[in-house]
Amino acid sequence: MTVKEFDFIALGGGSGGIATAARAAQNGAKVALIEYNELGGTCVNVGCVPKKAMWFAAQVAETLELAGDYGFDVKAQDLNWNTLITARENYINNIHKFYDGYLQRLNIQHIKGFGRFKDKQTLVVDEVEYRAPHILIAPGGKPTIPDIPGAELGTDSDGFFALQSRPKTCTVVGSGYIAVELAGVLNALGTKVTLVIRKNAIIRSFDTMLSEQLKLSMEEAGIETVTEAIPSKLTHNDKNEVILHTNKGEHPASEVLIWAIGRTPQAQQINLSATGLETNERGFIETDKFQNTKTAGIYAVGDITGRAQLTPVAVAAGRRLASRLFDNQTDLHLNYDNIPTVVFSHPPIGTVGMTEQEAINKFGEQNIKSYTSSFTPMFYALTSHKQKVSMKLVTEGENEKVVGCHIIGLAADEMLQGFAVAIKMGATKADFDNTVAIHPTSSEELVTMT
Ligand code: NDP
Repeated sequence: MTVKEFDFIALGGGSGGIATAARAAQNGAKVALIEYNELGGTCVNVGCVPKKAMWFAAQVAETLELAGDYGFDVKAQDLNWNTLITARENYINNIHKFYDGYLQRLNIQHIKGFGRFKDKQTLVVDEVEYRAPHILIAPGGKPTIPDIPGAELGTDSDGFFALQSRPKTCTVVGSGYIAVELAGVLNALGTKVTLVIRKNAIIRSFDTMLSEQLKLSMEEAGIETVTEAIPSKLTHNDKNEVILHTNKGEHPASEVLIWAIGRTPQAQQINLSATGLETNERGFIETDKFQNTKTAGIYAVGDITGRAQLTPVAVAAGRRLASRLFDNQTDLHLNYDNIPTVVFSHPPIGTVGMTEQEAINKFGEQNIKSYTSSFTPMFYALTSHKQKVSMKLVTEGENEKVVGCHIIGLAADEMLQGFAVAIKMGATKADFDNTVAIHPTSSEELVTMT
């Protein structure tokens, strides 16, 4: 068997694998990257990137609805789904081309195939052995499909991106990021959407203000929500529509049903046991703060670690790991506190830090003071349809250190990043108040709250 030697091998060509491989190569390492699929992983191919394109399309649709209130004599013609999808896929193809050139420029060998461990320093792809003293595991995850009869009649987020036309009706099952994002996009683009959740709230790990406000806004926008419905099976009718059965009975049939109930880590087929490692009971590979697994020379970043499953987290953790290994920055690691995140729902959400309840649990109710504000942003002052922005700052202690910032509403997605810097630096409410407002914006409210 042919054997090829490297300093570093990344197993998985998604955001985490590519970022780590690139930083290792920039620091002089001889690097290989193993990926059997298109480069870019979930984020580029069936996640953040195509989702954001669809979200922008939904924003355009919503803005067109309001254009008349601003005096424009326009009427939205029906969406040409094919035009939208073609433009989206062209954009993604350009990213693939960019990645090909990027890896070549960095002298990273891209091995196209499925990698399996032979031992802790050897991966095998198509009968060639690739060896390195440092190996990164970054294979990501895939959508979870429940183990119930007929589950395969539904699709998942990958299937959503493969839709050849806009469905007339769609049932989305789930209550996390993907469920609310896809439900919002489809609804805005003209599909009749039903969101089925098994508890009584959506995005339950977020601050209750966000969870409650989003559910309200989605319902106002025309999405039907069904709560406390636990899926038991799927069947189809003679029109080939999907019928969801839950503890509440049989739900109305829909053209498409999307499972959005979480993602499953992909460590099953890489022969992990050859490295002496095992996944935990949830299928994740555990690491310490330096991304070290329990086996020396083997590291993991990204969704496979089960921590903050977000592209920029994988990228940030991977780059730090590579600089630690190949640039002598021996103490470098990602600090997982105060990671800002945006949900591209309709309206969008930006959130960083602790929810009010988490802060109360940690510091005691008497030490927490929250500031809230809810208002109609100026964009809607001229329109008949209005949508609120709601904000909350959670502060802790006598000097009112800001430990949480939660925003839902128009432009929340673009508001958060700068505030996240301030919070990461330990800003207090007084620091917020000492910052001069930018007028007229929605974000000025965050520095003028009383
Ligand atoms: P999430 O983990 O966010 O949410 C899935 C939710 O579905 C669960 O929290 C649970 O909520 C519900 N659920 C779980 N099992 C079942 C079941 N059997 N039947 C019905 N409901 C169920 O997963 P997603 O798939 O939405 O997203 C995966 C991850 O991808 C996210 O956690 C996020 O890290 C990342 N992501 C990030 C995005 C962004 O940054 N904008 C966008 C999309 C994904 P409950 O317990 O309330 O029922």
